[in-house]
Amino acid sequence: MAKLQEYQNKRDFNKTKEPKGGAKRGYDSPVFVIQKHNASQLHYDLRLEINGTLKSWAVPRGPSTDPSEKRLATETEDHPLEYADFEGTIPKEEYGGGSVIVWDTGSFKNITEKDGKTKPLDKAYDDGEILVELHGKKLQGGYALVKMQGRGSNNWLLIKKKDEHSDKRCNHVSSQPESVLSDKTNKEIEQEMDNG
Ligand code: MN
Repeated sequence: MAKLQEYQNKRDFNKTKEPKGGAKRGYDSPVFVIQKHNASQLHYDLRLEINGTLKSWAVPRGPSTDPSEKRLATETEDHPLEYADFEGTIPKEEYGGGSVIVWDTGSFKNITEKDGKTKPLDKAYDDGEILVELHGKKLQGGYALVKMQGRGSNNWLLIKKKDEHSDKRCNHVSSQPESVLSDKTNKEIEQEMDNG
């Protein structure tokens, strides 16, 4: 927020229609989003706001609430923050062609620790081990992202932490396939597109 302070101090937002900045989400905590992307291979794109950008991972099987399930999460390119609201269809011939829905979104808290203190998110990311507490509409509680060993590997594992929100039986991926923004499924988004 600090870098927006000067911009905001110079303006009276009762008089200018310029964006206040940061008000979009209404809180200071970083945002996360999971976009269900029906591309050539269906996958779930997990994105975490780290240092003003959305760090991104493609999770083929989606997140699990079962701490014994390790889900492969392949790191992809950073996305701009505005992407967190994106829902729609990417033309088939374009990169990532297919439908995208906001499957879950909300804020998250960095709970990565080192020597009893919170480790900054960017450092946690650089070190390949990130612990977050999600405050989503579907997903809640602690999740770990752990980078797999191996030179040049883009592969991480997404694992639910044991807490009051872990649950071996619940499966949001199959029981709640729809968007948290529009209530639409990928298929409905695709049909809208087909109907012009
Ligand atoms: Mn994708």
